[in-house]
Amino acid sequence: MDKNTLLQVWPIPAFDDNYIWCIHDGSSALVVDPGDAVPTLAYLRANNLTLKGILITHHHADHTGGILQILQNLGIDIPVYGPVGDDIPGRTVAVMQDDKVEIPSPRMSLKVFEVPGHTLSHIAYFANMQANVVEPMLFCGDTLFASGCGRLFEGTPTQMSESLGKFAALPKNTLVYCTHEYTLSNIRFALAVEPNNLNLLSWADQAKSLREQGLPTLPTTIGQELQVNPFMRCDQAEVIAMAKEISGQAELPTPAHVLAVIRAWKDRF
Ligand code: ZN
Ligand code: FE
Repeated sequence: MDKNTLLQVWPIPAFDDNYIWCIHDGSSALVVDPGDAVPTLAYLRANNLTLKGILITHHHADHTGGILQILQNLGIDIPVYGPVGDDIPGRTVAVMQDDKVEIPSPRMSLKVFEVPGHTLSHIAYFANMQANVVEPMLFCGDTLFASGCGRLFEGTPTQMSESLGKFAALPKNTLVYCTHEYTLSNIRFALAVEPNNLNLLSWADQAKSLREQGLPTLPTTIGQELQVNPFMRCDQAEVIAMAKEISGQAELPTPAHVLAVIRAWKDRF
């Protein structure tokens, strides 16, 4: 395979609403967060792909449950990358903030971000432009979703706010590969927060039409999320005003305070 063959990224649907992302160059593949071995193995076979590595973002079973079965079934010894703070079955390489994951085939260089919030040890993988990558890509697990963010199972609103801040600093054209298809319900909530956000209103129509055609609403982009995602917009006047109204608090001094209010509201929405 020509080393400059463009990488492709495809979703493997799993469970009710998970996406296991498969990155490949036409022959060698990586998978991100394979919660279920069965659809992953079927996809690799159907597309004649050889699995060369597994990337894990956090310890939840819907992201890790297929690892051992995939390794056993393929009978191969491949690297399994995962966050240093978690106990990940089959992990061979523990990674942390600013680590570089260098994969020879498919040729890829990924930077690791620690993004606590959904879980304490949650990480994301970022690939910036390289010969075979036209637009930067981010594999963010359950930290950021299209028009939403992950539930705070282990971390604090301040941690999630800082984690989303790391993503906000990435190039706007970064393709964001989230691990769940939660977009339509996230949009319903986002519209409650910002009923007058015109970008959000037009995205709502687009996303609805994609789902009606059975298509994923992902990947999204950082630029898009900065326009429509209330959790990435906790510094915007309309979001702050709504958070004050909902919480009855006169002052919400930082974006993390705003995020705390709207995340708690989303949990009961
Ligand atoms: Zn999770
Ligand atoms: Fe999940």
